[in-house]
Parts: sequence; C-alpha cells; structure tokens
Amino acid sequence: MTGLYARHYMFENIRNMLDSNPDTEYFTVFLDVKNFKIVNDIFGSDFGDFALCQIANWIKDNVSEKCVYGRIAGDTFGVMVPSDEFDADKLEEDLANFVVTDGIVSHQLHIYLGVYAVRDREADVSVMFDRAHFAISSATDEYNTHIAFYDDKLREKVMWDQKISSNLHEAIETMQIRPYLQPITDNNGKVVGAEALARWIHPEYGFMPPYKFIPLFENNGMIVDVDRHMWRCACELLSEWKGKHDDLFISVNISPMDFYYINVVSEISKLVKEYDIEPRKLRLEITETVMMNDAGDRMKTLDEFRKLGFIVEMDDFGSGYSSLNLLKDMPVDVLKIDMKFLSDSEENEKPMTILKNIVKLSEELKIVSLTEGVETEQQYMQLSEMGCKLFQGYYFSKPLPENEFEEYLKKSA
Ligand code: C2E
Ligand code: CA
Ligand code: CA
Repeated sequence: MTGLYARHYMFENIRNMLDSNPDTEYFTVFLDVKNFKIVNDIFGSDFGDFALCQIANWIKDNVSEKCVYGRIAGDTFGVMVPSDEFDADKLEEDLANFVVTDGIVSHQLHIYLGVYAVRDREADVSVMFDRAHFAISSATDEYNTHIAFYDDKLREKVMWDQKISSNLHEAIETMQIRPYLQPITDNNGKVVGAEALARWIHPEYGFMPPYKFIPLFENNGMIVDVDRHMWRCACELLSEWKGKHDDLFISVNISPMDFYYINVVSEISKLVKEYDIEPRKLRLEITETVMMNDAGDRMKTLDEFRKLGFIVEMDDFGSGYSSLNLLKDMPVDVLKIDMKFLSDSEENEKPMTILKNIVKLSEELKIVSLTEGVETEQQYMQLSEMGCKLFQGYYFSKPLPENEFEEYLKKSA
C-alpha cells in the first residue's frame, strides 16, 4: 500500500547494507504515530491509509540512496540512515507541524522518532529497532521534542522502571512498602497527628525514599496500588491507637491519578468502616493539580468527603498553579503551605511576608493553615505569631518508623 518494503525484507536489506559498508556509521530510526487508532476511528480507514502513504512519502523525501527504509507494522516505520545524513533540526521542524490533508479533512499527526546509534553491528536488526523504539517512551511526555535518542542512561532507567514495577505487588504484600510517620504539632508544641509517607525497604536496593518510585508509579498508574496500601496501613495504625492515642489523626496522600482510576470516596469510606474509624481521624491530602482537570467534578468529590466527616487538606500550596482565586471556592479544611517553595528567595523577609498573607487569607476563609518544611525554631516562632495553627518539619522530627514515632510521642509528652 505504501510502496515501501515490509519489515522482513527491510531488515534483510539493512543486514546486507551493514555488512557491505563496515566503515559507515548508522542510525536506526523508529517512527511511530501517536494515537493513530484515533485517526482511523474518527476519519475512517481510507483516510488512515492515506495518512500512512503521506508518511511514507515524507520518509522517501528525506532519505538518500544510502538509506534503507520500510514499514515495520501498522503505523510504525523504520529507517537505517548513515549518521552524517541524519538532520535532526530539519526533521524536528517538519514534525512540529505534520498535517495530512486530502482536500476535505485536515489532521495534524503526532509523529515521534526514536533513534539508536548502531554500536553493536552484529546485533539483530530487530534488536536495533527495539532500542530505537525504546527511546520514544522518553520523548512522548514532552511536547516540543519529537526525536529521542537511545542511550545507556535511558536503557538503565527503562530497566529500573521495569524491575521496580514488577516488584511492586510483592513489596506491598510483604510490607516492604510501609508508612513512616512525620509528627504534626500545634502552636503549643503538642503532637496532634502525623503524615504517613511511603518508604520502600527493598531487599536488594535497601531504603528507598519516595522520589525513587512515586513519580514512576504516578506515570504508569500503579500509584493507585501504593496509595490504597498506604490508606489501609494508616487505618490499621489508627485502629491500634484506639484507647491509646485517641486524639491523634493520620494524614494520607491521594495522588491526582487516584481520582482518575478509582472511586476514592467509596474506597476510603469502606476502609474507615472496616476498621471502625472516625473519618475525621484519617485526613486526606490532595494537591491543587487535581483541580486542573474537571474542577467541578473534583470539588463535588471533595464535598462528598467532607459531608462524610473527613478533613480535606490542600497539600503543597504555593508550589504550582496555586491561585488564590481558586482558594475561595475550594472545599478544603486545611491549607498545607510548604516552606521550601518560598525559601528559594535570597532574603528571609519576602517568604515570611507571603506566608503572613496566606495565613491571614486562610483565616478569613475559615481554613486552618498548616506550614510544613519548618526547620528552625525561629521559623516556628514567627509562624505561630502570624496565626499559623499547625506545623510539620525537620525542626520537630523527620518521618519516623512506627516504633520511633511512639518513642517521640512519649518524649514530647
Ligand atoms: P509531601 O506530601 O509534600 O511530603 C512532605 C515531604 O517533605 C516529605 O518528603 C518529607 O519528608 C519532607 N519534609 C518534611 N519536613 C521537611 C523539612 O523540614 N525540610 C525539608 N526539606 N523537607 C521536609 P518525602 O517523604 O520524601 O515525600 C516526598 C513526596 O512523595 C511527598 O511530598 C508526596 O508528594 C510523595 N509521597 C510520599 N508518600 C506518598 C504516598 O503514600 N502516596 C503518594 N501519592 N505520594 C506520596
Ligand atoms: Ca503530603
Ligand atoms: Ca506537602
């Protein structure tokens, strides 16, 4: 249909070319169209076929007689090109605006190129294309680059991601992933609760802080499993604390992804029922990014939580798009302000002025303010004076394993 070689014949020709030009360095280029299924779906398969032919023509226009190219499958193509003929800038320019038009329909295609600089010439040609394909996974997150190169760092990252992901379920079952508790203190210095933060004690890699696995799982959706596990652990702790620490709450994190994949209200309410816990003891931390999509729907969800008696906290206020405007409509009880987003400033005065005003504003909106990332006594004093009600940070304590948290409670009492 496209007039190009099919996969098998292309690979054979590439093999011959590699063998007969031992002094030429080559790039393996894997071309993939993002969401091509949708093109077929919306515009029909005739238009889809037409689009594929346009891609084939574009490839022909951009190669010399020293290249071998073909169609790998469906909407993927391959090119083997001498490295000195690969002009990334020109290709990037074409791909920034690749519009297919048949006179009636015009549609912009999102085409990505993964590139592998052939080092191991003896390897299977299909392996070379697999590596080039790999590279694409690193490009599709970014909006303005359509070309991604395969390198060792990428390879290691992909292997790490796969390894960690395949370990997750066992890690949850065997409690390798468990909550550490960071105390939350009021303005009299009394511990009133804790935030549950995930730690992974990996049998092979040892102690792993969240940045080593949370971002990956947020990307691939597995964060839902981590969060569910953390919510359950928090309920278990609260249940153990009955009659012992009746006045303490635990805050858990809800990732924006959770809202997308599961019914958070029903799952979390089921949990507190199962463990017979007052909803107000399991505080829920959400970030403002959850409001970026379906703000209306999300507000309803937060309202539902509050009607059920949960306390909803806006996490990381000040980190991103925080709009003071959104705040007046936000159905939240607590505003968590992170000092570290403010402390980049050279002087010490500005962050404090900003904090003072956020605290004042939240007071007027009847929202409790909690400052996290409090590291010095001076910060604690100043914040207390401003009217901030709750505090969390290294000045009080780092996140602690359960037994050390118990000790901390005794000491601070
Ligand atoms: P976060 O929810 O904003 O958690 C607060 C982070 O700040 C924690 O890092 C905590 O250890 C750190 N921190 C506390 N006090 C201080 C301080 O005084 N100074 C400084 N510089 N840092 C302080 P951690 O535990 O590494 O967690 C990082 C992030 O990972 C969390 O940020 C949260 O976004 C995510 N995370 C952790 N556990 C979970 C989880 O169970 N589920 C989800 N969805 N995300 C989690
Ligand atoms: Ca948090
Ligand atoms: Ca935070």
